[in-house]
Amino acid sequence: MSEELKPCPFCGGEAELCQGYDEDGTELCSIHCGTCGMETIRDDRKPAEAITAWNTRPSPWISVTPETMPERKQSVFVTNGKTVKEVRELFASDDDGVITVGASWEFDEAITHWMPIPELPT
Ligand SMILES: [Zn+2]
Repeated sequence: MSEELKPCPFCGGEAELCQGYDEDGTELCSIHCGTCGMETIRDDRKPAEAITAWNTRPSPWISVTPETMPERKQSVFVTNGKTVKEVRELFASDDDGVITVGASWEFDEAITHWMPIPELPT
């Protein structure tokens, strides 16, 4: 196996590669979570492709562009790619896709990405 399977994105359980054949002898595979039972579609992808797809997780960071700005009063994390700052209702954004935060937020470089602050764990 070229790549380890990441844990299940839904429950954190251990995932396993399931391989078999259809009635025509075509090799099939899917990824199955042994804890919650979540399973990907069983198809004729090569195992390495199925593993890569399973392990691909979307980044929570959103690029700063005019079309993808946070709401003006939204509390967010912002980053310049090196440092992360929490910004609670302090930033302003202009129509050119530039996020500006208050003077106390010292960034050497422009903010490149933001993300909503997730809920606290319960
Ligand atoms: Zn699971």
